[in-house]
Amino acid sequence: MTKDSLSPNATIGIVGGGQLGRMLALAAAELGLKSHIYCPEADCPAAQVSHAFTTAAYDDETALSAFAAAVDVVTYEFENIPVATVEHIAASKHVFPSAKALKIAQDRLDEKSFMRAQGFGVADFFDITDLASLEAALAQCGGAGILKPRRFGYDGKGQWRLNGDSDLAAVLAELDGQAAILEALVPFDREVSILVARGQDGATACYDVIENIHRNHILHSSTLPAQLSAALQDTAKNMAEKIAAALDYVGVLAIECFVVGDALLINEIAPRVHNSGHLTQDACHVGQFEQHMRAVAAWPLGDATAHSDAVMTNLLGDEIEQWRDLTAQEATYVHLYGKAEARPGRKMGHVTRLKTKNS
Ligand code: AMP
Repeated sequence: MTKDSLSPNATIGIVGGGQLGRMLALAAAELGLKSHIYCPEADCPAAQVSHAFTTAAYDDETALSAFAAAVDVVTYEFENIPVATVEHIAASKHVFPSAKALKIAQDRLDEKSFMRAQGFGVADFFDITDLASLEAALAQCGGAGILKPRRFGYDGKGQWRLNGDSDLAAVLAELDGQAAILEALVPFDREVSILVARGQDGATACYDVIENIHRNHILHSSTLPAQLSAALQDTAKNMAEKIAAALDYVGVLAIECFVVGDALLINEIAPRVHNSGHLTQDACHVGQFEQHMRAVAAWPLGDATAHSDAVMTNLLGDEIEQWRDLTAQEATYVHLYGKAEARPGRKMGHVTRLKTKNS
């Protein structure tokens, strides 16, 4: 614990008002901490459960300054907020995680270059600037790869799987001048995520590795623990702790990886709590949301150990209509986000089922 620990009743500012902000605000409340949400949309999931709320644009410097003045420390709940927003707030109030982590996570080329420089595995990747660089990169990837915009990546949106039959010029036209990378296609055995919390004093708490299944580029389900050897679990946790230290990170950091045989290749990092970590709320002694609030408030980190194995499934769109059946099931925890409109593919809630109890 550092001398800057917040007292109970202090206020944590949270930039962004989606379901992650909502669950962070709920976790803060459990600790007797207040939350103040800053979000451009008034009707957002986090506003329903927070102590205070500011509706303003991310580039409204007057509103950002007033928000910073009204809170004791600031965090954010998604990685596509402008770095300038974080830097503006950081001029007058501590923001965790820092703008450095945010900047790296916002750009796939910087992110992969950083991970490679730290000595961690990533898929082969190439900077794409024009048709010639795309043709050359695809050849170096063995004729198959995934083209991804460098910035504003989320849930696999706006990505193109390319092979020898692809019309590369047409794809570049669709990309419409956005900077991009081509990644080699990874023949992965499974996808996993590692969630690590790091405190302001450098202490860390790492969750057991979680295994993820995506459908239509959106996370479908997560399972704790992942089917990995004990040695690979240890390697993954060590890697996560090293990355968090290299970023001088404070808060919960999510690292998504491909498992290929005995190797881990990092796909991307998220400088925030993560959908795949939702099951930690119900399966671990201290879940990711409370852990993040503890780190930001400079409280001691909690016990990240799992007391149960678990599976989390997202409720997308009208799957939320299953709520009545789900709430009647044993060892099942239903979390709904308070969103009014169930559009197809929209994350409306999630359900966590606990399995065998650990001794
Ligand atoms: P991303 O937006 O980078 O998280 O990618 C979304 C999903 O696409 C991942 O969860 C993987 O299932 C798949 N994917 C992304 N990159 C690769 C890759 N280089 N090789 C194989 N599959 C990938």
